[in-house]
Amino acid sequence: MTYSLPDLPYDYAALEPAITGEILELHHDKHHAAYVKGANDTLEKLAEARDKERFGGLVGLEKTLAFNLSGHVLHTIFWDNLSPDGGDRPGGELGTAIDEHFGSFEAFKQQLTSATATVQGSGWGVLGWEPLGRKLIVQQVYDHHGNVGIGATPLLVFDAWEHAYYLQYRNVRPDYVERLWDLVNWNDVAARLAAAKGA
Ligand code: MN
Repeated sequence: MTYSLPDLPYDYAALEPAITGEILELHHDKHHAAYVKGANDTLEKLAEARDKERFGGLVGLEKTLAFNLSGHVLHTIFWDNLSPDGGDRPGGELGTAIDEHFGSFEAFKQQLTSATATVQGSGWGVLGWEPLGRKLIVQQVYDHHGNVGIGATPLLVFDAWEHAYYLQYRNVRPDYVERLWDLVNWNDVAARLAAAKGA
């Protein structure tokens, strides 16, 4: 097994009342786990295709790998991006970088909120570090892997799939997104930015 499901860094109920324990348990134990299994299963099938030199199904396998692997990566980041002690706004180098690249924290917050709230179908709002222009950018991701400018490193990710909020917020996705801001672990986001800049 190449990939394994990481433990949550807190209890299922730790993010209540913003996110219920029921949602978090299903989200981690069922949805995230399925992406891990999907990625591992697909790698096995790709190895088999190489062994047998049978690449007829390659297009489908590559799509399935991109979907499941990206789902695994994004959820792994998402859990660490959130904390019961999160919220407020970042200071330090991250705060300065957000001001520099978005004009202000408020402008950045509006853009990421809007990117998350307006995804058509399933997807994510993502703050990323784009290494070629050395810029922070917001990306609106479809599913787990569509609409992405290649090469940007995700730093802060907001899950906009219905499985992330529907049991609690029903159809009112903007209310869920607003509550996510109260959970953001800016120390984690800052550490990811420092690592991405060094990469
Ligand atoms: Mn999800």
